[in-house]
Amino acid sequence: MYDVVIIGSGPAGLSAAVYAKRADLNAVVLEKEYLGTGQIAESSRVDNYLGLYGESGYDLGEKFRRHAEAVGAAFREAEIVKIIPRKESYLLKTADGQDILTRTVIYAAGTKRRQLGIKGESEFLSKGISFCAVCDGAFYAGKKVAVIGGGDTALSDALYLSGIAKKVYLLHRREQFRANAALQNAIKRTANVECVFNAVPNAFLGAEKLSAVNFLRNGAEESLTVDGVFLAIGSVPNSGLLAGIADRDEDGYVIADENGITSAAGIFAAGDVRTKRLRQVITAAADGANCVGSARAYLSQKRS
Ligand SMILES: Cc1cc2nc3c(=O)[nH]c(=O)nc-3n(C[C@H](O)[C@H](O)[C@H](O)COP(=O)(O)OP(=O)(O)OC[C@H]3O[C@@H](n4cnc5c(N)ncnc54)[C@H](O)[C@@H]3O)c2cc1C
Repeated sequence: MYDVVIIGSGPAGLSAAVYAKRADLNAVVLEKEYLGTGQIAESSRVDNYLGLYGESGYDLGEKFRRHAEAVGAAFREAEIVKIIPRKESYLLKTADGQDILTRTVIYAAGTKRRQLGIKGESEFLSKGISFCAVCDGAFYAGKKVAVIGGGDTALSDALYLSGIAKKVYLLHRREQFRANAALQNAIKRTANVECVFNAVPNAFLGAEKLSAVNFLRNGAEESLTVDGVFLAIGSVPNSGLLAGIADRDEDGYVIADENGITSAAGIFAAGDVRTKRLRQVITAAADGANCVGSARAYLSQKRS
Protein backbone atom coordinates (compact mmCIF):
# COMPACT_ATOMS: atom_id res chain seq x y z
CA MET A 1 0.00 0.00 0.00
CA TYR A 2 1.32 3.46 -0.91
CA ASP A 3 1.37 6.38 1.49
CA VAL A 4 0.59 8.74 -1.37
CA VAL A 5 -0.55 8.28 -4.95
CA ILE A 6 -0.23 11.40 -7.08
CA ILE A 7 -2.63 11.44 -10.03
CA GLY A 8 -1.22 13.55 -12.89
CA SER A 9 2.31 14.62 -13.74
CA GLY A 10 1.72 18.24 -14.69
CA PRO A 11 3.45 20.96 -12.65
CA ALA A 12 1.29 20.24 -9.58
CA GLY A 13 1.90 16.50 -9.63
CA LEU A 14 5.63 16.83 -10.34
CA SER A 15 6.09 19.34 -7.55
CA ALA A 16 4.22 16.98 -5.20
CA ALA A 17 6.49 14.16 -6.36
CA VAL A 18 9.62 16.13 -5.38
CA TYR A 19 8.25 17.05 -1.96
CA ALA A 20 6.91 13.53 -1.28
CA LYS A 21 10.27 11.97 -2.09
CA ARG A 22 12.13 14.41 0.13
CA ALA A 23 9.61 13.70 2.91
CA ASP A 24 10.53 10.00 2.51
CA LEU A 25 6.95 8.98 1.78
CA ASN A 26 6.20 5.82 -0.16
CA ALA A 27 4.74 7.62 -3.18
CA VAL A 28 4.15 7.11 -6.89
CA VAL A 29 3.04 9.41 -9.71
CA LEU A 30 0.43 7.99 -12.08
CA GLU A 31 0.17 9.70 -15.48
CA LYS A 32 -1.92 8.62 -18.42
CA GLU A 33 0.22 10.25 -21.13
CA TYR A 34 3.61 8.79 -22.04
CA LEU A 35 6.17 10.90 -20.11
CA GLY A 36 3.46 13.59 -19.83
CA THR A 37 4.15 16.95 -18.24
CA GLY A 38 0.64 18.39 -18.45
CA GLN A 39 -0.80 21.33 -20.32
CA ILE A 40 2.24 23.54 -20.11
CA ALA A 41 3.86 21.46 -22.86
CA GLU A 42 1.43 23.23 -25.23
CA SER A 43 2.79 26.69 -24.51
CA SER A 44 5.31 28.17 -26.93
CA ARG A 45 6.90 30.46 -24.36
CA VAL A 46 6.52 31.00 -20.62
CA ASP A 47 7.56 34.41 -19.35
CA ASN A 48 6.04 34.36 -15.87
CA TYR A 49 7.58 31.40 -14.07
CA LEU A 50 10.17 32.72 -11.67
CA GLY A 51 13.80 32.05 -12.57
CA LEU A 52 13.13 30.41 -15.95
CA TYR A 53 12.22 33.41 -18.12
CA GLY A 54 11.44 32.72 -21.76
CA GLU A 55 11.50 28.91 -21.64
CA SER A 56 9.25 27.04 -24.04
CA GLY A 57 6.46 25.31 -22.09
CA TYR A 58 7.69 21.98 -23.42
CA ASP A 59 11.21 22.55 -22.05
CA LEU A 60 9.86 23.81 -18.73
CA GLY A 61 7.78 20.65 -18.32
CA GLU A 62 10.79 18.49 -19.22
CA LYS A 63 12.89 20.28 -16.58
CA PHE A 64 10.20 19.68 -13.95
CA ARG A 65 10.02 16.00 -14.82
CA ARG A 66 13.82 15.56 -14.85
CA HIS A 67 13.96 17.28 -11.45
CA ALA A 68 11.44 14.81 -10.00
CA GLU A 69 13.37 11.91 -11.57
CA ALA A 70 16.66 13.27 -10.19
CA VAL A 71 15.39 13.11 -6.60
CA GLY A 72 14.22 9.55 -7.22
CA ALA A 73 10.44 9.97 -7.58
CA ALA A 74 8.63 6.86 -8.83
CA PHE A 75 6.41 7.01 -11.94
CA ARG A 76 3.91 4.68 -13.55
CA GLU A 77 2.14 5.26 -16.85
CA ALA A 78 -1.49 4.58 -15.97
CA GLU A 79 -4.88 6.16 -16.45
CA ILE A 80 -7.03 6.09 -13.35
CA VAL A 81 -10.62 5.32 -14.26
CA LYS A 82 -12.17 4.85 -10.83
CA ILE A 83 -11.49 5.77 -7.22
CA ILE A 84 -13.15 3.58 -4.60
CA PRO A 85 -13.11 4.81 -0.98
CA ARG A 86 -12.27 2.10 1.56
CA LYS A 87 -11.81 2.25 5.29
CA GLU A 88 -8.82 4.61 5.74
CA SER A 89 -7.57 3.94 2.18
CA TYR A 90 -8.50 4.33 -1.48
CA LEU A 91 -8.54 1.67 -4.17
CA LEU A 92 -7.62 3.07 -7.59
CA LYS A 93 -8.59 1.22 -10.76
CA THR A 94 -6.49 1.75 -13.89
CA ALA A 95 -7.67 1.61 -17.50
CA ASP A 96 -5.57 -1.54 -18.06
CA GLY A 97 -7.20 -3.39 -15.18
CA GLN A 98 -4.72 -2.88 -12.34
CA ASP A 99 -5.67 -2.14 -8.73
CA ILE A 100 -3.58 0.29 -6.68
CA LEU A 101 -4.12 0.77 -2.96
CA THR A 102 -3.11 3.97 -1.17
CA ARG A 103 -3.62 5.73 2.13
CA THR A 104 -3.86 9.18 0.52
CA VAL A 105 -4.37 10.66 -2.95
CA ILE A 106 -2.95 13.91 -4.27
CA TYR A 107 -5.36 14.67 -7.08
CA ALA A 108 -3.59 16.77 -9.72
CA ALA A 109 -5.48 15.80 -12.88
CA GLY A 110 -5.68 19.37 -14.24
CA THR A 111 -8.13 20.54 -16.87
CA LYS A 112 -9.00 19.87 -20.48
CA ARG A 113 -9.99 22.29 -23.22
CA ARG A 114 -13.60 23.38 -23.50
CA GLN A 115 -15.46 22.76 -26.79
CA LEU A 116 -18.09 24.97 -28.42
CA GLY A 117 -20.62 22.20 -29.04
CA ILE A 118 -21.60 23.55 -32.48
CA LYS A 119 -22.27 21.94 -35.86
CA GLY A 120 -19.23 20.37 -37.50
CA GLU A 121 -17.01 20.56 -34.39
CA SER A 122 -16.65 16.84 -33.66
CA GLU A 123 -16.58 16.05 -37.40
CA PHE A 124 -13.54 18.26 -38.03
CA LEU A 125 -11.59 17.68 -34.79
CA SER A 126 -8.04 16.85 -35.95
CA LYS A 127 -9.20 17.52 -39.54
CA GLY A 128 -8.66 21.25 -39.32
CA ILE A 129 -9.79 21.92 -35.75
CA SER A 130 -7.10 21.85 -33.07
CA PHE A 131 -6.68 22.78 -29.40
CA CYS A 132 -2.93 23.23 -29.56
CA ALA A 133 -1.23 25.91 -31.65
CA VAL A 134 2.25 24.80 -30.61
CA CYS A 135 1.57 21.16 -31.52
CA ASP A 136 -0.29 21.71 -34.84
CA GLY A 137 0.62 25.24 -35.97
CA ALA A 138 3.35 24.02 -38.34
CA PHE A 139 0.68 22.37 -40.56
CA TYR A 140 -0.60 25.82 -41.50
CA ALA A 141 2.56 27.46 -42.87
CA GLY A 142 1.49 30.13 -45.38
CA LYS A 143 -2.22 29.34 -44.84
CA LYS A 144 -5.24 31.08 -43.27
CA VAL A 145 -6.33 30.14 -39.76
CA ALA A 146 -8.76 31.36 -37.12
CA VAL A 147 -8.28 31.35 -33.37
CA ILE A 148 -11.47 31.37 -31.30
CA GLY A 149 -11.34 32.94 -27.83
CA GLY A 150 -10.41 36.13 -26.03
CA GLY A 151 -8.24 35.15 -23.07
CA ASP A 152 -4.48 34.74 -22.59
CA THR A 153 -4.36 31.39 -24.37
CA ALA A 154 -6.25 32.65 -27.44
CA LEU A 155 -4.05 35.72 -27.86
CA SER A 156 -0.84 33.72 -27.24
CA ASP A 157 -1.98 31.20 -29.84
CA ALA A 158 -2.76 33.96 -32.36
CA LEU A 159 0.69 35.52 -31.86
CA TYR A 160 2.41 32.17 -32.20
CA LEU A 161 0.45 31.35 -35.38
CA SER A 162 1.12 34.80 -36.87
CA GLY A 163 4.73 33.69 -37.31
CA ILE A 164 3.67 30.63 -39.33
CA ALA A 165 0.37 31.31 -41.09
CA LYS A 166 -0.24 33.95 -43.76
CA LYS A 167 -3.32 35.30 -41.97
CA VAL A 168 -4.77 34.80 -38.52
CA TYR A 169 -8.35 35.77 -37.65
CA LEU A 170 -8.98 36.17 -33.94
CA LEU A 171 -12.69 35.63 -33.29
CA HIS A 172 -14.07 36.72 -29.95
CA ARG A 173 -17.71 36.71 -28.87
CA ARG A 174 -17.39 39.91 -26.83
CA GLU A 175 -16.44 43.51 -27.62
CA GLN A 176 -13.06 43.31 -25.90
CA PHE A 177 -10.51 40.71 -24.92
CA ARG A 178 -10.01 39.32 -21.40
CA ALA A 179 -6.32 38.67 -22.02
CA ASN A 180 -3.60 40.61 -20.20
CA ALA A 181 -2.57 44.04 -21.49
CA ALA A 182 0.87 42.89 -22.72
CA LEU A 183 -0.73 40.31 -25.01
CA GLN A 184 -3.37 42.78 -26.25
CA ASN A 185 -0.65 45.29 -27.16
CA ALA A 186 1.36 42.61 -28.96
CA ILE A 187 -1.74 41.64 -30.98
CA LYS A 188 -2.26 45.29 -32.02
CA ARG A 189 1.33 45.42 -33.31
CA THR A 190 0.98 42.23 -35.39
CA ALA A 191 -0.05 43.05 -38.94
CA ASN A 192 -1.35 39.65 -40.06
CA VAL A 193 -3.70 39.18 -37.09
CA GLU A 194 -7.22 40.50 -37.72
CA CYS A 195 -9.50 40.78 -34.69
CA VAL A 196 -13.19 40.01 -35.24
CA PHE A 197 -15.20 41.08 -32.18
CA ASN A 198 -18.83 40.19 -31.33
CA ALA A 199 -18.45 37.03 -33.40
CA VAL A 200 -20.31 33.97 -32.09
CA PRO A 201 -19.29 30.84 -34.06
CA ASN A 202 -22.23 28.61 -35.01
CA ALA A 203 -20.86 26.08 -37.53
CA PHE A 204 -17.73 24.57 -39.02
CA LEU A 205 -17.95 23.65 -42.68
CA GLY A 206 -15.94 21.54 -45.10
CA ALA A 207 -15.83 18.32 -47.10
CA GLU A 208 -12.99 15.96 -46.08
CA LYS A 209 -11.33 18.73 -44.08
CA LEU A 210 -12.43 21.99 -42.54
CA SER A 211 -12.69 24.88 -45.00
CA ALA A 212 -14.74 27.58 -43.24
CA VAL A 213 -16.10 28.83 -39.97
CA ASN A 214 -19.52 30.49 -39.79
CA PHE A 215 -20.42 32.96 -37.08
CA LEU A 216 -23.16 35.36 -36.08
CA ARG A 217 -22.32 39.04 -35.77
CA ASN A 218 -24.96 41.62 -34.94
CA GLY A 219 -27.71 39.18 -35.86
CA ALA A 220 -26.32 38.31 -39.31
CA GLU A 221 -24.47 35.14 -40.32
CA GLU A 222 -20.98 35.60 -41.76
CA SER A 223 -18.38 33.12 -42.95
CA LEU A 224 -14.58 33.04 -43.11
CA THR A 225 -12.66 30.71 -45.40
CA VAL A 226 -9.88 29.14 -43.33
CA ASP A 227 -7.62 26.10 -43.47
CA GLY A 228 -7.55 25.61 -39.72
CA VAL A 229 -9.25 26.67 -36.51
CA PHE A 230 -7.69 26.74 -33.05
CA LEU A 231 -10.11 26.60 -30.12
CA ALA A 232 -9.02 28.52 -27.03
CA ILE A 233 -12.25 29.10 -25.13
CA GLY A 234 -11.25 27.96 -21.67
CA SER A 235 -11.02 24.73 -19.79
CA VAL A 236 -13.07 22.26 -17.79
CA PRO A 237 -11.66 20.40 -14.78
CA ASN A 238 -10.81 16.68 -14.99
CA SER A 239 -12.67 16.05 -11.76
CA GLY A 240 -15.23 13.40 -12.77
CA LEU A 241 -13.36 10.71 -10.82
CA LEU A 242 -14.19 12.54 -7.59
CA ALA A 243 -17.94 12.80 -8.26
CA GLY A 244 -19.73 11.58 -5.15
CA ILE A 245 -16.43 11.42 -3.21
CA ALA A 246 -15.28 15.04 -2.79
CA ASP A 247 -17.30 18.24 -3.09
CA ARG A 248 -16.99 20.23 -6.34
CA ASP A 249 -18.26 23.69 -7.24
CA GLU A 250 -20.89 24.38 -9.92
CA ASP A 251 -18.19 24.36 -12.64
CA GLY A 252 -16.78 21.04 -11.46
CA TYR A 253 -13.64 22.35 -9.71
CA VAL A 254 -12.72 20.38 -6.58
CA ILE A 255 -13.38 22.54 -3.56
CA ALA A 256 -10.09 22.92 -1.68
CA ASP A 257 -8.02 25.67 -0.13
CA GLU A 258 -4.29 26.27 -0.64
CA ASN A 259 -3.51 23.30 1.61
CA GLY A 260 -5.43 21.10 -0.80
CA ILE A 261 -7.77 19.78 1.86
CA THR A 262 -10.99 18.50 0.30
CA SER A 263 -14.22 17.23 1.84
CA ALA A 264 -12.88 13.64 1.47
CA ALA A 265 -10.48 12.56 4.22
CA GLY A 266 -7.12 11.63 2.70
CA ILE A 267 -7.77 13.21 -0.73
CA PHE A 268 -5.89 16.43 -1.46
CA ALA A 269 -6.44 18.52 -4.61
CA ALA A 270 -3.57 20.38 -6.29
CA GLY A 271 -3.25 22.64 -9.31
CA ASP A 272 -5.75 23.73 -11.95
CA VAL A 273 -8.34 21.15 -10.89
CA ARG A 274 -9.09 22.88 -7.58
CA THR A 275 -11.04 26.04 -6.79
CA LYS A 276 -8.70 29.06 -7.03
CA ARG A 277 -8.37 32.42 -8.72
CA LEU A 278 -5.12 31.99 -10.67
CA ARG A 279 -4.51 28.80 -12.67
CA GLN A 280 -0.86 28.95 -13.59
CA VAL A 281 2.32 26.91 -13.29
CA ILE A 282 3.53 28.78 -10.24
CA THR A 283 0.32 28.20 -8.28
CA ALA A 284 0.12 24.56 -9.43
CA ALA A 285 3.68 23.92 -8.23
CA ALA A 286 2.91 25.58 -4.88
CA ASP A 287 -0.20 23.44 -4.48
CA GLY A 288 1.76 20.24 -5.08
CA ALA A 289 4.17 21.14 -2.28
CA ASN A 290 1.38 22.15 0.11
CA CYS A 291 -0.58 18.96 -0.53
CA VAL A 292 2.39 16.86 0.54
CA GLY A 293 2.47 18.82 3.81
CA SER A 294 -1.24 18.11 4.28
CA ALA A 295 -0.86 14.42 3.39
CA ARG A 296 2.02 14.07 5.88
CA ALA A 297 -0.04 15.68 8.65
CA TYR A 298 -2.98 13.40 7.83
CA LEU A 299 -0.81 10.26 7.81
CA SER A 300 0.94 11.06 11.07
CA GLN A 301 -2.40 11.80 12.76
CA LYS A 302 -3.69 8.38 11.61
CA ARG A 303 -0.55 6.64 12.87
CA SER A 304 -0.56 8.28 16.30
C1 LIG B 1 -1.53 26.90 -24.27
C2 LIG B 1 -1.28 27.15 -22.79
C3 LIG B 1 -0.40 28.11 -22.41
C4 LIG B 1 -0.15 28.34 -21.05
N1 LIG B 1 0.78 29.31 -20.70
C5 LIG B 1 1.09 29.48 -19.39
C6 LIG B 1 2.09 30.43 -19.01
O1 LIG B 1 2.69 31.12 -19.86
N2 LIG B 1 2.40 30.54 -17.69
C7 LIG B 1 1.79 29.78 -16.75
O2 LIG B 1 2.13 29.91 -15.58
N3 LIG B 1 0.80 28.90 -17.08
C8 LIG B 1 0.44 28.73 -18.37
N4 LIG B 1 -0.54 27.83 -18.70
C9 LIG B 1 -1.31 27.17 -17.62
C10 LIG B 1 -0.53 25.98 -17.05
O3 LIG B 1 -0.19 25.10 -18.10
C11 LIG B 1 -1.39 25.28 -16.01
O4 LIG B 1 -1.75 26.19 -15.00
C12 LIG B 1 -0.65 24.10 -15.38
O5 LIG B 1 -0.19 23.19 -16.36
C13 LIG B 1 -1.54 23.36 -14.38
O6 LIG B 1 -0.83 22.28 -13.89
P1 LIG B 1 -1.58 21.02 -13.24
O7 LIG B 1 -0.47 20.10 -12.83
O8 LIG B 1 -2.56 21.46 -12.25
O9 LIG B 1 -2.45 20.36 -14.41
P2 LIG B 1 -2.08 19.87 -15.89
O10 LIG B 1 -0.92 20.59 -16.44
O11 LIG B 1 -3.38 19.91 -16.62
O12 LIG B 1 -1.66 18.33 -15.69
C14 LIG B 1 -2.60 17.35 -15.34
C15 LIG B 1 -2.04 15.98 -15.72
O13 LIG B 1 -2.91 14.96 -15.22
C16 LIG B 1 -3.01 13.93 -16.17
N5 LIG B 1 -4.24 13.21 -15.93
C17 LIG B 1 -5.52 13.70 -16.04
N6 LIG B 1 -6.42 12.75 -15.72
C18 LIG B 1 -5.72 11.64 -15.40
C19 LIG B 1 -6.10 10.31 -15.01
N7 LIG B 1 -7.39 9.95 -14.88
N8 LIG B 1 -5.12 9.39 -14.77
C20 LIG B 1 -3.81 9.74 -14.92
N9 LIG B 1 -3.40 10.97 -15.32
C21 LIG B 1 -4.34 11.91 -15.55
C22 LIG B 1 -2.99 14.67 -17.50
O14 LIG B 1 -2.61 13.81 -18.57
C23 LIG B 1 -1.96 15.77 -17.22
O15 LIG B 1 -0.64 15.36 -17.58
C24 LIG B 1 -0.82 27.58 -20.05
C25 LIG B 1 -1.73 26.60 -20.46
C26 LIG B 1 -1.97 26.38 -21.80
C27 LIG B 1 -2.95 25.30 -22.23
